[in-house]
Amino acid sequence: MNRKKKPLWPVWLVGCMVLIVGTLGIHLIVQDARAGNSSDVETVEVSPSAYPGLNIETRTKNTKHYISTISSPLADSKEINTPIQAWINEQEKNFLAEVEAGSKTIHSGQRAELNLTVETNKINDHLYSLVFTSYQIAYGANGQTMIKTFNIDTAENRILTLADIMVSDKTAVNHIQSIVKKELKKQEEVIPYILEEELQKSMKNPSEWKWSIDNEVFTLYFNEYEIAAGAAGTIQVNIPLKSLHSYLNKELFSKWNISYVVEDEPEEKKPIQLPLDPKGKYVALTFDDGPNPKVTPRVLKTLEKYDAKATFFMLGVQVEYYPNLAKKVAEAGHEIGSHSKSHPNLANMSLYEVRKQLTDASKQIEAATGAKPTLFRPPYGAMNDAVKKVTTEQKTPIILWSVDSLDWKSRNAQAVNKVVMRDVRPGSIILMHDIHRSTADALPQMLKSLKKQGYQFVTVSQLLSLNKSKGNGPYYHQ
Ligand code: ZN
Repeated sequence: MNRKKKPLWPVWLVGCMVLIVGTLGIHLIVQDARAGNSSDVETVEVSPSAYPGLNIETRTKNTKHYISTISSPLADSKEINTPIQAWINEQEKNFLAEVEAGSKTIHSGQRAELNLTVETNKINDHLYSLVFTSYQIAYGANGQTMIKTFNIDTAENRILTLADIMVSDKTAVNHIQSIVKKELKKQEEVIPYILEEELQKSMKNPSEWKWSIDNEVFTLYFNEYEIAAGAAGTIQVNIPLKSLHSYLNKELFSKWNISYVVEDEPEEKKPIQLPLDPKGKYVALTFDDGPNPKVTPRVLKTLEKYDAKATFFMLGVQVEYYPNLAKKVAEAGHEIGSHSKSHPNLANMSLYEVRKQLTDASKQIEAATGAKPTLFRPPYGAMNDAVKKVTTEQKTPIILWSVDSLDWKSRNAQAVNKVVMRDVRPGSIILMHDIHRSTADALPQMLKSLKKQGYQFVTVSQLLSLNKSKGNGPYYHQ
């Protein structure tokens, strides 16, 4: 043996065991362990698999000092097996070290125990969530249960990371944390033990989360003592996939044939700014002068149907009259910009007047939607230095447009579509108004045609982020 450190007997034992298993094959019964014989025995059983691409091996050891049973699932690839086996070996090694340390003081008949089991959740024919529970009790001490999860794809021979299935930026983490808190409140038996601060700490690092998914829920697991006092044990929180829909990797879920119903969720639903593909074909639809009680709801409906996100440049006075409608637009995940309070020609206004127009509009929008507007579009596209100064102060870039649908002039759905389809380019900002019925009439055909040409619909901020635009504009785009 060529080891750097002094060989400990447990290590030797594991090595020996691996050798025996390797040499004698998979079905080896030296002696019936259940007979309670205290001499060193070893049982190896292999169960036939009900899970395509996955087998399981349950190893039982029964010695004078301890008993251990380890269930260890095996895929056909080492990319999957190696990390899982490494974790299992680590558990066993730690256990054996405890046993070694305690064996000198142990009373006869009192044996340590390691029980490592796995719950296999089949998502489809190649996706599995493996949830390991390791229970160990060494001499005298209390038993301890630990959880570990591996989510595997046996078709692609890899272990999935959280980043594969969802965005886990700060907004997402906050959102998930608030759901976890809400769900925990439903678990009466654990409520008294929850340690708020520990929970926060534990959720801070998504790459360390212990999670699994199935067709309906995303589940988070917490070890004993991780987020609650010991009496609560291990904790499991199920989060319905539909409440995470804005963070999930939709492409992957549809590839996996996992669908989930999106429900109305009145709570905070901010637009999620997924990074765009620099070579992608994007267009930003913008709607000015609303919200309008007759037209805006129709616009929202069409956008939803095409899973399109747009930007609404709202007027303060309209928001003041229809705050619920403004809120609905924000909740649907669209971006809200300001279009001033009352649509004056700002180019003719003093710094004081411009500031009042923009500040009032901003307050009205915030009061209704809960967030300040992120962008500003001057009425008529008219600007002066005061407009530039105030928008810089308020950190709302000036957004103009590259395609004017002329909906305000034609008031005709067909004419609107004709202009848009003629002038649109990748990266266009399209100007429309959600106050004309003809614009709402034009929208279904417009989205259908643009989608057919490969366009994706994004917010203005997303479009700007693509070009890493800095400063306050004005921005017209392509
Ligand atoms: Zn306008």
